[in-house]
Amino acid sequence: MKSEKWEANVRKIVPYVPGEQPDSPNMIKLNTNECPYPPAPGVQAAIAAMQSQDLRLYPDPGAEVLVKGLADYYGVKKEQVFVGVGSDDVLSMAFLTFFNGDKPILFPDVTYSFYDVWAELYRIPYETCALDENFRIRPQDYKRPNGGVIFPNPNAPTGVYEPLALVEEIIKANRDVVVIVDEAYIDFGGESALPLIQKYDNLLVVQTFSKSRAMAGMRIGFAMGSEKLIKYLNDAKFSFNSYTMNRPTLALGIEALKDKAYFEEITARIVATRERVKGELRELGFTFPDSLTNFIFASHERIPAEQIFRALREREIYVRHWDKPRISNFLRITVGTDEEMDTLLSFLREYIQRGEKTC
Ligand code: PMP
Repeated sequence: MKSEKWEANVRKIVPYVPGEQPDSPNMIKLNTNECPYPPAPGVQAAIAAMQSQDLRLYPDPGAEVLVKGLADYYGVKKEQVFVGVGSDDVLSMAFLTFFNGDKPILFPDVTYSFYDVWAELYRIPYETCALDENFRIRPQDYKRPNGGVIFPNPNAPTGVYEPLALVEEIIKANRDVVVIVDEAYIDFGGESALPLIQKYDNLLVVQTFSKSRAMAGMRIGFAMGSEKLIKYLNDAKFSFNSYTMNRPTLALGIEALKDKAYFEEITARIVATRERVKGELRELGFTFPDSLTNFIFASHERIPAEQIFRALREREIYVRHWDKPRISNFLRITVGTDEEMDTLLSFLREYIQRGEKTC
C-alpha cells in the first residue's frame, strides 16, 4: 500500500496479539488462563444491587474503596497501592513512568509478550536475557548496567517459579533502577515478593484479579510498592486518564476481595486439578517445566505442538500456541475444571493413539 505523507508522523507499532476469545456454547476454553469458576458469590449479589442511576456520576478518581481494601488485605498502607484496568494497564503505566533512562531495560527472552510491545510503544530501549535450557532465569544476566528490570514470577508462558532468594538477588543488584515483578500467577503456589517492598523502595509488585479472583472480564490489576513509587505512578495516571476504574468495577472488585475463604477454595481446587493433570499428561508423553501457575506449558515427545493445537481447535478445545523461537513446540494449556481437563485428556489420549497406529 502506498504511504501517504501524513503517515510519516504516525506512531507505528506492531501490537500485542491477545489470545482469541471465541464464544461458542460447546467450546472448552483453555487459552487465556481465565479461572474456570465464577467470582465470589458476593459479586453476584453486588451486581443485583447495582443501580443504573449511579452511573450518571463519575467514579472516585482515587478508587479509594479498592485501594483501601487492598491495603488492608495485604497489610500495607493505602499510599503503597495503585490500581488499574487489569494488570496490563498497571504495567503499561509502570513502563511509561519508570523506564525513562538511556540504558536498555532487561527482561527474559521467553516471557509475557506485551513487554517488548510497551517498550516499542514508549520507545524504551530493551534487551532480553536468555533463560537457561530449563527456562530458568540466570540472575547473573541482570547484573549489568540497565535502565530497569521486569520479569513475571512465576514466568509466563513457561509457568516456572523462581524462589524469592533469586528475586531478591536481582533486586539487590539493581538498586539504581526500578525492578518490577509481575505476579499475575502468584496465587497458585509461589511466594510473593510483597514483603520485600518494605526493604527495597525501588521494587514494584504487580498482581491481578483476572486469574485467581475469577474477574478477567472486570479488568482489575494493582501494584504495591514504596509510597514514592506509587506517587509517581499516580502522577502519570492522573496525567493520562483520571477515571480509570469505573463504578461497577470498584463495587464488584471490593466484593471479590472480601471473600477470602472462597478465594482460597477455588485456588486450591485449581492447584489440585493442575497436579493431577501433570501426571496424566506425563503418561501421554508430554514434558513440561514444573508449573506453579494455572497453566501447563507442555511439549509432546513425538507430535508437533502446532499439529495438536489444530486438532484440538477443530474439536473446539482452545489452547495457546506461539510460532516463536524456543517455544514453537509447546502448548500453553490453562487448567480448567476437572471435567474440562478430562475431556481434553481423553481427546489427547485417542489422538495420540491414533497417531501411533498410523506411524
Ligand atoms: N502479566 C502476565 C504475565 C500475564 O500473563 C497477563 C495475562 N495476559 C497479564 C500480566 C495481564 O493480565 P490482566 O491485564 O488481565 O491483569
